[in-house]
Amino acid sequence: MIKKHTDDIQFDQQHIWHPYTSMTTPLPAYKVVKAKGVHIELDSGEKLVDGMASWWSVVHGYNHPVINQAMHQQIDDFSHVMFGGLTHQPAIDLCRRLIKMTPEGLDKVFLADSGSVSVEVAIKMAIQYWHSKKQQKKTRLMTVLGGYHGDTFAAMSVCDPVNGMHQLFQGFMANGVFAPRPGINFDESWDDSAVTELQNLFAAHHQELAAFIIEPIVQGAGGMRFYHPEYLKQVRELCDQYNVLLIADEIATGFGRTGKLFACEHANISPDILCLGKALTGGYLTLAATLCTTEIAETISSGEAGVFMHGPTFMGNPLACSAANASLALLEQNHWQSQIESIETSLQALADLQSHPQVENVRVLGGIGVVETVRPVNTAKIQAHFIKHGVWIRPFGKLVYVMPPYVISNDELQTLIEAIINVIPNEDIWG
Ligand SMILES: *Cc1c(COP(=O)(O)O)cnc(C)c1O
Repeated sequence: MIKKHTDDIQFDQQHIWHPYTSMTTPLPAYKVVKAKGVHIELDSGEKLVDGMASWWSVVHGYNHPVINQAMHQQIDDFSHVMFGGLTHQPAIDLCRRLIKMTPEGLDKVFLADSGSVSVEVAIKMAIQYWHSKKQQKKTRLMTVLGGYHGDTFAAMSVCDPVNGMHQLFQGFMANGVFAPRPGINFDESWDDSAVTELQNLFAAHHQELAAFIIEPIVQGAGGMRFYHPEYLKQVRELCDQYNVLLIADEIATGFGRTGKLFACEHANISPDILCLGKALTGGYLTLAATLCTTEIAETISSGEAGVFMHGPTFMGNPLACSAANASLALLEQNHWQSQIESIETSLQALADLQSHPQVENVRVLGGIGVVETVRPVNTAKIQAHFIKHGVWIRPFGKLVYVMPPYVISNDELQTLIEAIINVIPNEDIWG
């Protein structure tokens, strides 16, 4: 048994890519045998309270009876059929729900297979839109520094150029226009000078810009920063003024995480194109969606191709749609808003760390808690400490952060918070 375990871990290390780790000296990967509710169980016996919701996605916890049942039922009917020329109830129900719950004006839904693909789809929609309007110079994208939009090529081209190591792919990748990072934090007071540079960039580049793409309010993987809603409002106005489409990437922020159902609601705006993913299926299966306005859809359909040029094999996968329908129903039934309010209130306790010499900043928004450290942490070492404290938290760089499943109890949340407060002062967690 022990020999088999060692063999498996060795095989994993030698042959299987894990995200963003070396293939010659990989970070450890712990083997999971079971996950239920907010607990992840390792084969070594530890039962960990999950602070990550498996990267924003598992909002109702693991192994949820309602989502399980919806998927069982769908498996017994059919797990997949092609979406070309065929349709089905789970997709119809899901798209109805998405149109109803998202910001106003987004009436057409493209079901994609992952967040990155939904961003590719959004970008292609924007470019095909201007092509159909015979404005073929409008092919570039503008965004802000510090963003993250996925790992495929077009998505990568609008990620932060330094974090995203754009120099590795030079010559192959689209050349975006980068505005400074939104400078004013969520709870600071607004100052119009914060958009001067942005205004200049719009004025200089609008004739070549197809779209402006941004993560509303929360810059996620690019630094876990929360910026001022007025910034997003001004972006919307500039897009209108200069005839540039606005793509909101709500793949991380969608479905309640920031305290609003969609982060765009903090600024009371609707984008022209919206990307959703991650929590869409409650973290059960990969599925994403790109929504757009009727005007965009009709313009694309009036163009040279007459159709939108994308159609993945697993488009609208019924099993994924059935998980999404169950997950969205649970959001409502569980009163996501009070779940998030209660998490937000408890996470404020992280502020105790603000005065620690190794801590740069502590910030909380909705169901997201971030401790930014002065120096980068050593991921392997700090992770081992967290496991000893019975929690699953995976920091990167200078960011120790949590975004737990919405169903986490107050006691379990205290376990997460205490683990962070106890582990940060440790001397041997630093890179
Ligand atoms: C995770 C993420 C993506 C990419 O989604 P994948 O499903 O990993 O391809 C894109 N944009 C944002 C804001 C994300 O957080």
